[in-house]
Amino acid sequence: VPALELSQLKKRYKNGVEALKGLDLKVEAGDFYALLGPNGAGKSTTIGIVSSLVTKTSGKVSIFGYDLETDTVNAKRQLGLVPQEFNFNPFETVLQIVANQAGYYGIPHKQALKKAEEYLRLLDLWDKRDSRARMLSGGMKRRLMIARALIHEPKLLILDEPTAGVDIELRRSMWEFLRKLNQQGVTIILTTHYLEEAEMLCRNIGIIQKGELIENTSMRRLLAKM
Ligand code: ADP
Ligand code: ADP
Repeated sequence: VPALELSQLKKRYKNGVEALKGLDLKVEAGDFYALLGPNGAGKSTTIGIVSSLVTKTSGKVSIFGYDLETDTVNAKRQLGLVPQEFNFNPFETVLQIVANQAGYYGIPHKQALKKAEEYLRLLDLWDKRDSRARMLSGGMKRRLMIARALIHEPKLLILDEPTAGVDIELRRSMWEFLRKLNQQGVTIILTTHYLEEAEMLCRNIGIIQKGELIENTSMRRLLAKM
């Protein structure tokens, strides 16, 4: 089954803006996929709907075959989300933030702590485990968001503009981390408006414009055309 399948996804906001006009998109399991498009194209809306933060007007979302509407718990269980904005409690510690997220997925406390240690070590944050999140640098906060999103071992990780405002050194190490994660079998979808980032990382690419998918191809084919 595909990791993500969107069928005729439509979103009309209350102010009348039609952000998505019947979006069809399929991302295969194991893929590293970039959703590219200019500001206002509908990328955040798409991710918002997939992660249940935005309600769709109509259409269908399946995550590893689970319908998000009728099989919500199973669908959500497959998904890890790294939103663009930091949305953890800045007064909690790094370890609390990651372990609490595990609790949100019903992972028992002891196991949650073990998992949290594993991911904090992988993301080079273990030394910061007892620091309050607000004390971290921007790059550390970014990595904390990733550790939190992975704690329930999702099969699909979606990142919204993961390296926006990140300096080149950290950007490289994040790319390296994401590549390894993908090699371990995690399907990754990221949005970006940097073609260069998509080019560095992604196997396939979708270009969204004015709420519609105008291109869906392999990175190699896209580059050959340019
Ligand atoms: P992108 O992430 O590609 O920049 P968005 O999904 O944020 O695009 O926006 C798509 C369109 O929907 C834009 O025209 C934007 O102004 C509009 N939009 C986004 N969020 C809202 C909202 N909460 N209310 C009304 N319009 C919105
Ligand atoms: P519910 O609707 O079950 O109360 P929410 O959707 O409001 O849960 O999410 C609660 C918090 O967990 C929010 O801060 C949200 O950003 C975060 N969250 C939800 N789903 C995920 C996910 N798959 N990965 C990471 N964070 C998530």
